[in-house]
Amino acid sequence: MKAKKAYDYLIVGAGLFGSVFAREAHEAGKRCLVVDRRDHAGGNVYCENVDGIHVHKYGAHIFHTDNKAVWDYVNRFVTFNRYTNSPVARYGGRLYNLPFNMNTFYQLWGTTTPEEAKVKIEEQRAAYAHITEPANLEEQALKLCGRDIYERLIKGYTEKQWGRPCTELPAFIIRRLPFRFTFDNNYFNDAYQGIPIGGYNVLTDALLQSADVRLGTDYFTHKAELDAVAEKVIFTGCIDEFFGYRLGHLEYRSLRFEEERLETANFQGNAVVNYTDRKVPYTRVIEHKHFEFGTQPHTVITREYPDNFAPGKEPYYPVNHGRNTLLYEDYRRLAQNSCNVLFGGRLAQYTYADMDDTVASALELARQEITR
Ligand code: FAD
Ligand code: UDP
Repeated sequence: MKAKKAYDYLIVGAGLFGSVFAREAHEAGKRCLVVDRRDHAGGNVYCENVDGIHVHKYGAHIFHTDNKAVWDYVNRFVTFNRYTNSPVARYGGRLYNLPFNMNTFYQLWGTTTPEEAKVKIEEQRAAYAHITEPANLEEQALKLCGRDIYERLIKGYTEKQWGRPCTELPAFIIRRLPFRFTFDNNYFNDAYQGIPIGGYNVLTDALLQSADVRLGTDYFTHKAELDAVAEKVIFTGCIDEFFGYRLGHLEYRSLRFEEERLETANFQGNAVVNYTDRKVPYTRVIEHKHFEFGTQPHTVITREYPDNFAPGKEPYYPVNHGRNTLLYEDYRRLAQNSCNVLFGGRLAQYTYADMDDTVASALELARQEITR
């Protein structure tokens, strides 16, 4: 008879997906070893404490969901505050509320009633009524919202984000641009929203509490040794890397973060300010203390610069279109035939998943996989 290995599961990646799976496995009496190549757990939701301010090291993370089961689940491990995301866009020295709502329309055109705003938007759209089949993102945006909103609030931000002119981006990226005819700056429509009090590490530390965790450990460097100690592998890294890029490289967009501590109590008065002007090289400035209503005498800000992906950089966003979608499907077929390895999370599934989707999908995999 084969000797039982030390762990039921080796979990590659201590991000939200791996952490939720580890917790569920533990509750079912399974033993887990979690490894991460970074020197901290939490994946992209990791926060660093800078004299009481929880700095979102990999970009602003706001938890929002309509999924009550997921909301109840995360609330078992941490209490969430009442933070509501209300980003402000800055263009040419002027500020505009997001998402597009009555405040934005007033700032753009001085309209004061929903009726006036609707007339103005129709007037703006009318100039592009001749576009029946938008050939690219620019045509799609002009047809949906007209020139003022497109030029001031969409064009620059989108071109910086994707590193290409809107005329070379596919129209489907913005099939819909929601307009809200109320004075409501809440970016999300979800029923539940907030930031974990004490930062996201409180959540991921609680999830990982009962697992063995090895940080600064790259799976591929120690593959033979790690595979030998566990019955099964849950892999949450890049799927193309897992297979040695044998079918080709998937594309990603990367980001570069420039962090600065300032000896001032309040730099921009809001957690998130988007810079929608093409001439400003970064897309957003995050002032972290406002996520938790901080009152410290100092502040920490992060400028977020979109970046081309290259080996050695972090793969933040999958580029889910054209060739990449087909290539991912081919990798997925390989993954289905991999013995004793299960793939999950945003990198292994090559998908843009919000945190609530990530939690839901880890819970689902655990439900299917773990025999209690
Ligand atoms: P990750 O957090 O990426 O974790 C994967 C882990 O695997 C990483 O720690 C990595 O180091 C490790 N790993 C990879 N390969 C190896 C290897 N070979 N060996 C060892 N370890 C390895 N969602 C929201 O709901 N709200 C938001 O406001 C929001 N903002 C976001 C902003 C940005 C800039 C980004 C990029 C994402 C945002 N998200 C947001 C999405 C959110 O980050 C994800 O849903 C979630 O973090 C995904 O968790 P994960 O475990 O799948 O992946
Ligand atoms: N977007 C924009 N102007 C903004 C914010 C967003 O045009 O001020 C567009 C842009 O194309 C971006 C998309 O909306 O890629 C999604 O942005 P969001 O901030 O909602 O999502 P995330 O950056 O988290 O993917």
